[in-house]
Amino acid sequence: MNHGTSHRLLSLRTAWFNVPSAGKPLFPLLIIVAMEANGDGLQVLPFFEAHSKEMLDFTRWLVEQESMSREAEATRRIAENLGEKLALIGATVDLINDRRYGSTLLARFDCFGGTPHSENKQLLVVGHLDTVWPIGTLAARPFKIEDDRAFGPGIFDMKAGVMLATFAMRAIKELGRSTRRAVTLLMTCDEETGSVSSRGVIDDEARQAHAALVLEPPIPGGTVKTARKGVGEFELIIHGRPAHAGNDLRAGVSAITELAHQVLAINKLNDFERGSTVNVGVARGGVLSNVVAAEARAFIDMRFRNVEDGQRITEAMLNLRPVIDGARIEVRGGINRPPLVRTSETGELFEHARRLASEIGFDLKEGSVGGGSDGNFIAAHGVPVLDGLGVDGAGAHAEHEHIIISDIPRRAALLTRLIETI
Ligand SMILES: [Zn+2]
Repeated sequence: MNHGTSHRLLSLRTAWFNVPSAGKPLFPLLIIVAMEANGDGLQVLPFFEAHSKEMLDFTRWLVEQESMSREAEATRRIAENLGEKLALIGATVDLINDRRYGSTLLARFDCFGGTPHSENKQLLVVGHLDTVWPIGTLAARPFKIEDDRAFGPGIFDMKAGVMLATFAMRAIKELGRSTRRAVTLLMTCDEETGSVSSRGVIDDEARQAHAALVLEPPIPGGTVKTARKGVGEFELIIHGRPAHAGNDLRAGVSAITELAHQVLAINKLNDFERGSTVNVGVARGGVLSNVVAAEARAFIDMRFRNVEDGQRITEAMLNLRPVIDGARIEVRGGINRPPLVRTSETGELFEHARRLASEIGFDLKEGSVGGGSDGNFIAAHGVPVLDGLGVDGAGAHAEHEHIIISDIPRRAALLTRLIETI
């Protein structure tokens, strides 16, 4: 692992406002600072209302740096660029480079002059810089604004969330506020492909964390996530025996027929009541219609609410046995992300967030989802995780992906209040 910190400091001269059509710093801020030292959410909200144009420009700046997962050069570049901005507001920035996946960013902030909590644990704020969109998507679907919505590849999942965290830290600094703990921003480069390269960093940071705030998009409507299912992946490989379909069909063992049996057996593992599911999402096999298929493969996705269910299905998958004489089965894979289980601490964290949201002037709801995030890995360390703190919108991984522009200031205010009160 390579900690690339050196060129960061050289670029401190880069103006923070050096993004396209960014607004100017606003002097009324001073009045806000004078009015309150440690007030409630209503008093950070004006900062974000005054900066909403700049926040949207910053989101656009992030969206226009395409960064598909596994495009190492692209994720390295966006991590460097964001790292420069974070250094300008006082972060110590480390880039952890991986040849295949790019760069994961760690930005550490002290308490901004506040007295650190006696328990020496940090607050983790977690996001990812990668997207599911291939380089070139931006040319086909450029950033655009329509009424109260902003569109662009990766904007909802989760470049708007990355923007929120950046501006939250900036607000704390510029408004002379403080935090109760050291705050670490962790931005991974490969969340969309299972966080293979960043997993070690996530685990290391989670061990030192009191709580984690995850910047993934909320459930459309702005609902934060207090539970996520665990995720597993399997590959099923079936070996049969080839034969001429016309001359000698019975001499063959069809891997495809065996696969059909296995798919039905796998489907029987679904337990919708318990929320544990499997999906044979990809199946392929054979070479020509006149040849008995010698090989077939399938890829299976597994979701589960608790570890025991995940283990039970994994065992069943690994114990699949062939139905047809002469066929052979190999199963690879297992649990990738453990479930994010809603604990009583998670419940307290959500209640705290709900109170802060109502001070700011909106109603916050919680929900659970089937998709995993880096929050799952963190929760597995017993750390309470509040997920889905990004900007409201819809269309993650879909072409209509967008955020709701008017949601930005209050969401930023909520994140800021969480960061300074946990
Ligand atoms: Zn995401």
